[in-house]
Amino acid sequence: MIDFSGSEARITESTLVIGLVLPDVMGTYGDGGNALVLRQRARLRGIDAEVLPITLADPVPATCDIYTLGGAEDYAQRLATRHLTQYPGMQEAAAKGAPVLAICAAIQVLGHWYETSEGERVDGISLFDLTTTPQAERSIGEIEGVPLIDGLTQPLTGFENHRGGSALGPDAAPLQRVVRGTGNGAGAAVDGVVQGSVLGTYMHGPALARNPELADHLLSRATGRSLEPLDLPDVELLRRERLRK
Ligand code: GLN
Repeated sequence: MIDFSGSEARITESTLVIGLVLPDVMGTYGDGGNALVLRQRARLRGIDAEVLPITLADPVPATCDIYTLGGAEDYAQRLATRHLTQYPGMQEAAAKGAPVLAICAAIQVLGHWYETSEGERVDGISLFDLTTTPQAERSIGEIEGVPLIDGLTQPLTGFENHRGGSALGPDAAPLQRVVRGTGNGAGAAVDGVVQGSVLGTYMHGPALARNPELADHLLSRATGRSLEPLDLPDVELLRRERLRK
C-alpha cells in the first residue's frame, strides 16, 4: 500500500482532497495510482492537492472533492461493500455531485447487487443502476475503446482481469465502445458506466496513468473549472506504446 502518512496534516481549506477509498482491501494492480495521477496533474497546474487514504479503520468522510476506488478479489470486495454500507459518506458526496472513479470490483460494489464466483448474491450500494453476475469465462487482457461521453476524444486503454460481467440498467450509460477486450461482459461490446458524477471502468493500468484525458475530465469536475492542457511527452509515449500492442 502506498504510504501517504502526513497527508492529512497538510490539508487546508483550499486543498483539493482526493479520497483514496479502502486501499487496504481495494487496490489490485496498483489502482491507488489513480489518486496519485490526479494529485500530480492537479499540482502541475498549481492546485494544492492531497490524497486522503480512507481505510477499513476510518469512517468514510463526505467532504472529499473526489473519490477513487480500485479493484479487488471477491472476499476483499465484500469487506469493502460492508464498510461503504455502514459509512455512506461517499454516497452523500456523490449525491451532491462529487466525482467518483470506480475500477473493476468497485463497479460491482457500486451497483445494486453482485453475484460472486461462488454464486452468492451480495447487495451493493446502488450508486450505479447495474447488476453483476459471473461470466462463463474470466476476461483477461488489454481493453481498448472509443469513449462515448462528452469531453473525451482520445481512445481509452487499460488491462482487465475479472470474472464478473455487469449489465447496465436504464439510468446508467456505458463509458466506451470496446474495440479490443471484453469490458462489461461477453457480448456487451461496451466498457464501464457513467451515472451523474460517478464513473466506472473495468480498466486497470492504472487507468488514469494510461488515459490522461480521463484524469483531466475528472479533475475538471472536481475543481469546477476547465484545465489547461499539460505537455508531458513521457505520458504520451506510454500511451502510444500501450495502444500499439
Ligand atoms: N472479483 C471481481 C471479479 O472477478 C473483480 C476483480 C477485479 O477487480 N480485478 O469480477
